[in-house]
Parts: sequence; C-alpha cells; structure tokens
Amino acid sequence: PHFPHRATGDYQQSDAAHHLHAFVDQKALNSEGARVMVRGEGVYLWDNDGNRYIDGMSGLWCTNVGYGRQELIDAASRQMKELSYYNMFFHTTHPAVIELSERLFSLLGDRFSHVVYTNSGSEANEVLIRTVRRYWDIMGKPGKKVLIGRINGYHGSTVGSASLGGMAFMHEMGDLPIPNITHVDEPYWYANGGDLTPEAFGKRAALSLERKILELGADRVGAFVAEPFQGAGGMIFPPDGYWQEIQRICRQYDVLLCADEVIGGFGRTGEWFAHRHFGFEPDLICIAKGLTSGYVPMGGLLMSRQVGEALVERGGVYAHGLTYSGHPLAAAVALANLDVLEKDHLVERTKNDTGPYLQRALREAFADHPLIGEIQGVGAVAAIQFAKNKATRERFSDEAELTWHSRTVGFELGAIVRSTNGRLIVAPPLVIDHAQIDELVGKMRQAVDATA
Ligand code: PLP
Repeated sequence: PHFPHRATGDYQQSDAAHHLHAFVDQKALNSEGARVMVRGEGVYLWDNDGNRYIDGMSGLWCTNVGYGRQELIDAASRQMKELSYYNMFFHTTHPAVIELSERLFSLLGDRFSHVVYTNSGSEANEVLIRTVRRYWDIMGKPGKKVLIGRINGYHGSTVGSASLGGMAFMHEMGDLPIPNITHVDEPYWYANGGDLTPEAFGKRAALSLERKILELGADRVGAFVAEPFQGAGGMIFPPDGYWQEIQRICRQYDVLLCADEVIGGFGRTGEWFAHRHFGFEPDLICIAKGLTSGYVPMGGLLMSRQVGEALVERGGVYAHGLTYSGHPLAAAVALANLDVLEKDHLVERTKNDTGPYLQRALREAFADHPLIGEIQGVGAVAAIQFAKNKATRERFSDEAELTWHSRTVGFELGAIVRSTNGRLIVAPPLVIDHAQIDELVGKMRQAVDATA
C-alpha cells in the first residue's frame, strides 16, 4: 500500500478529530466511525479491514468506467511528467485541453461551440449564473437577470449553485437563495400527482414555469435550469412530454434552457447526454463527474453557438477565471476516460444490454414488493420508491428512516446504494456486468426485506 497501514479505529479517531463530513450529523458519525475505504477496482471497493463492497453508486455518480482503469492512470502519469500545470488565463493554452474540447464538441454536434472548464459541478453552475446574466447584458436585455430552478433540484453546494438548487435544508445554511433566483414545481408524480395521470401532472408541473415567467415578466427571466432527471432529489424521472412542454415555454419567452448534466452526462442513461434521452435541446449544459469518471476533479459549462459566439463577438472581456480551469492533468484524464467509454462501447452497452438488464432485474425484484410503490429508471440509473399504501400512493411518515435503514443494511451486506427523499437509488459504474447486477439487486432486495 501507498500509505503505512494503520488500524481502522486509529484512522477513525483521527478522522473524527479533523473532518466535517458532508451531509451527516457529525456527532453521530463520530460515535459510529467513518468507513475507511482503501482500494477500488472495477465495480468493487475494499475497506481497511478487507471487506468488499459492490459500488451501486459509482462513488457519487462519477466512476462511469469503474475504478482503477490503467488507461486513465497512464494518461495522468504521462501528462504530469510532460506539463504538470499550466492554465488558460490570459494568452496561453495547451494541447490536452484543446484535444478534449474537440472531442466534446464532436459528441455534441454543431449546435454547440464553446466551453469554460471548472473543477466541479458546483462551479459549472456558478459559471452558468454569471454567463447567463452576461449574455443578456450584451444582447441588450440586462433586465433578464432571474434564473429559475426547481424545488428539490440539486446543483451544488456553493453560494450560487445551492441557491439554484431547491432544497430547503440547503438554503438554511448560509441564508440562501441569493437575489434573483427562484424555483418552480418538480415533476414528482408519485408524491404530488394526486388523481392526475403522470402525463397530465407532468404538463401541470411544466406549466408552473410558464406561470412564474408571466408573474415575473419575461423581460426579467434569463434562464431555466434543471437536471434532466433529479439526482440528489431522489432520482425522479419526469413524465413523458414534460421536457417538450418546458422547451416550448423557454423558446416562447426567450429564456435560456439549461441542462445540468453533471450526473446525466457521459452515458448514464444510455445516451452520451441525458437531454437526448428526454428529447430536448438545451442552450447551456453543465458537466462534471463522469467527464473524468471522478479520477480527478473537472467540470465545465458547455455553450451553444448562439451564446458562445455572442460572448466572443460582442462580449469583450469575459471576467471569469479559475486557476485550474482546463488543468492539463484533468484534461488528459478526461480524454482517456472518453477513449475508454468509446473503446469499450460503454454507452451503447448501457443502452442495449446492461441498462435494460438492470432495469428488468429491479422490476423483477421489487414490482410486487409490499414496501415498494414505484420503480423508475433508464440505463444505469434507477430509484425505488417506498410506499405505505401502493393503491393510494400514500407515503410512510418515516420513509427517510426506512430508506436509511435499507441503505445501512445494504452497506453491511456489501452493497453501496443511497437513500434520498424516501427513495433508494442506484447508479452503478457502466462497466458492471450481468452477474454483478444480480449481486447488487439481490443485496438490495435483502436490505429492503430486512426493513419490512
Ligand atoms: N449538479 C448536479 C446535478 C449534481 O448532482 C451535483 C453533485 O452531486 C452537482 C451539480 C455538484 O457537483 P460537485 O459536487 O462536483 O460540485
């Protein structure tokens, strides 16, 4: 091992003394002890005591090519030797980032032209907020400052991105949202659909955007920002027709349509980008995570030609820069990651083989389960919804504890899944095979049974 081996309790004590972990009660975690992960290979992780876990969450929706791919490691090592750091400030650039951009725009097609690289998905959304406002300034419509997100959306943890997200508990820390950001309904039929069909409800949720635009005045609204499917909010898939209605509204009122593809991008749904699965055309796209399979931090904001060329031709100085924007190491790893996705046909495989296999396995395991009311998903991403009464879609009042219990039992059984918003969610690495899917779903079933 790279670091001298220490006893798990020793690591945990030191971890508890120094770290504030994300999204947990620190005191409770400290008494339990954080799990110390030491190694990953393919779809598996090992902890410091040698226990093996099948990673049903790709880390945090990142490791699309799985852990430990030699091609990414070699690319990182070569790039570090050749040019360990330089930046895209002022008047310089470098080959790795140029090659990466060419590849990204060849995947996106001719409608897209420009990119600003970041280190994370949160930053990609920060850049989005500034870029939208800059774009409307130079287009002579400086009043279009408002960005509209969705209730229960997630776009990151920084001030702007957490404002754009629509989770109340995120807003509580730091007095958010910042001005000129507001939220509309989420297309969560199971919880909010009442007696409506999913399609009628989806249309109603989309129309909440139109209502908000009319209430504010279209001359004040610059952009609508949403995840093609809500990830951290519970892997919620909108009903058919929802995105078409959203696109119609954005076009009608001259509002930029922005897709946060931080989770959905790079094959997760069986398409290179999730907006293709849902059949809409965004103007701006946020990426991160699967871009490098999480091996090194990298994100970005991709711009349509309409926005990118306006910024170049009419925008003058673009007053934004991050020291690590387009970092050579990250760019080289991203390129190697795209190579692996292509060489191993992982996107097509997710669409035609492993994706359908996973979706079928989940439905076979849970469609008749007394605790499970709905199974949603496509490709290598899915959610199972807990329900107290399947006929009326009544939810458990303590569903957060129930799903947390299932997730914890899953962990004990050696399968990593997440519990969020009353739903158990999975998004395994795209390299997962049929036997591993059986293992993952089998352990999930055992975990849910233990909760019943
Ligand atoms: N956008 C979406 C849709 C996400 O799911 C996330 C993280 O989970 C982010 C943005 C934030 O990305 P990061 O954690 O890299 O800042």
